[in-house]
Amino acid sequence: MSECLFCRIAAGEIPSKRVFSDDRIYAFEDIAPKAPVHILVIPRKHVSRLSELSEEDAPLAAEAMRRAAAIAKERGLTDFRLVANDGAGAGQSVFHLHFHLLGGRPFSWPPG
Ligand code: 5GP
Ligand code: ZN
Repeated sequence: MSECLFCRIAAGEIPSKRVFSDDRIYAFEDIAPKAPVHILVIPRKHVSRLSELSEEDAPLAAEAMRRAAAIAKERGLTDFRLVANDGAGAGQSVFHLHFHLLGGRPFSWPPG
């Protein structure tokens, strides 16, 4: 059994509120939402962080980003933010690559 939280969530070993699922991508509601819409979009394949993404696996990131945009559209979001925190200093707490899809409220820039 994997020790990675998001690998276990994608495998269904830990429950989550599924938003999308196929053989490469899994999307689910964040357990501690920071906006009215806060969905995590992940590749099923374990990649620890964006900076560790290989050229071979790069299409998985593109697919996750496109899926996030499709989910935003489904949710009726005209504006949204897509975030990948890379490293603890940038706010990454789960080391399985994920994109935060955030929407439903205004966002300031630069982020904190
Ligand atoms: P990070 O801080 O690594 O960029 O984002 C990790 C995200 O995962 C956080 O927004 C956090 O709320 C979410 N999270 C952590 N544990 C769980 C969990 O068990 N289930 C779900 N659905 N989200 C989680
Ligand atoms: Zn993982």
